[in-house]
Amino acid sequence: MANQPSRRSLWRRYLDFPLIYKLAIALVAGAATGLIVGEPAAALQPLGDVFLRLLQMLVMPLVVVTLIAGVSSISPARLGGIGLKALVFYLVTSALAITVGLVLALAVSPGAGLQAPGEAEQRPEEAPPLAETLLGVVPENPFAALAEGNVLAVMFAAIAAGIALAFMRDSAEERIRGLGEFVRRGVDAGMELVFLIVRGVLQYAPVGVFALIAAVMAETGVGALVPLAKLTAVVYGGVAVQIGVYAALLALFGIGLRRFFGAARDPMVTAFATRSSSGTLPVSTRAARRMGVDEGVYGFTLPLGATVNMDGTAIYVGAATVFVANVAGVELTLSQLLMVVLVGVLASIGTAGVPGAGLIMLSLAVSQAGLPFAPVALVAGIDAILDMVRTMCNVTGDLTGTRIIARTERGMVHDPDSGGGSGGAAADPPPPGAHEAAAPAGGPADGPPGEPGERPGT
Ligand code: ASP
Repeated sequence: MANQPSRRSLWRRYLDFPLIYKLAIALVAGAATGLIVGEPAAALQPLGDVFLRLLQMLVMPLVVVTLIAGVSSISPARLGGIGLKALVFYLVTSALAITVGLVLALAVSPGAGLQAPGEAEQRPEEAPPLAETLLGVVPENPFAALAEGNVLAVMFAAIAAGIALAFMRDSAEERIRGLGEFVRRGVDAGMELVFLIVRGVLQYAPVGVFALIAAVMAETGVGALVPLAKLTAVVYGGVAVQIGVYAALLALFGIGLRRFFGAARDPMVTAFATRSSSGTLPVSTRAARRMGVDEGVYGFTLPLGATVNMDGTAIYVGAATVFVANVAGVELTLSQLLMVVLVGVLASIGTAGVPGAGLIMLSLAVSQAGLPFAPVALVAGIDAILDMVRTMCNVTGDLTGTRIIARTERGMVHDPDSGGGSGGAAADPPPPGAHEAAAPAGGPADGPPGEPGERPGT
């Protein structure tokens, strides 16, 4: 009986300890455990899988509620503008990213002096053709799309529902208006519910991160990294450059970097450990809320970004294609390089944000450039290590686009904690009546007031 209060206070202390420190400790401890213990540490994988599944469990409900809530609070005309901005931002940054990867790799020649494994590796799975992906955006059955986890199709249906709901709430007929408000309140309640679960799941995140990193390190080991150290350095370096580009863009739009990265670091670490930008969606959505971005923007741009925007993957595709050419002793021509850029950008649209998806895109780029396949096997050996950093970059890119688009739209940035000070960008006043669901400060972003756990900025 006597130890009851002390046990409770230990738990309370755990909750009060800032999440980012817990994640950082888990990351370092996980890497050390994987490297020191070696192969047996792979047994920790199920603990990491639980974390992945908990996140994935939230993705579809989150996409549905945030999109319906977001779209129904902005006009369809504005949605078109936000969508167009998001697509342009995502395409331009992806093209830039693949160029960064190519240029860095061309400067370093990461594969020079390496031998391809004798046997030509079996071709990995092909990416779905672009036309099929585009047609698949219109679901025949939205419930099937939901069950299959087809994010783009679910987005389409949810946008349709959101637009219809906006019209209902705007109807001249009182009965329809009343029903519209009723549905809207239900959707808002659903959103709060999902975010409360996200908060809970994040308390498990350190365990999941520890286990996932330990398992990757145990399986890959430093030994596998040594011959490919140059490629690893180019990919990690490319991501560092790209994050520098994001910082410059954010600064250009007058967005405070401390506030941005203060909120972005949880999804960044989660992406690093889970290697899935789709899986990280609940955590990045929560971060966007903490940045004060309106659901009308993030509800749309984040699910879209998680599926179509992969800057880190683009860097990897650029760098690894040069690596493959080096190993094969082939000099890449300008037209081959342009082909790689084009394929990299297009393939990123058709590939989901799941672990290892980049390897499919690499295969595609390599075959389009007419390069031999065998060296891809070398890259596959360390793919997990490269996947971690490229997924982190992918998620940061989505959040950067989201924050900048919110900045350029009137009334799409609120100030969730008034002391925050996110540069000049914070808290444009919302247009009258548009965001009644944006709720009181501290509510949506950080759970119910007085909830244990992290405070803003943790
Ligand atoms: N794992 C990455 C993501 O989820 C995709 C990739 O393999 O590059 O964003």
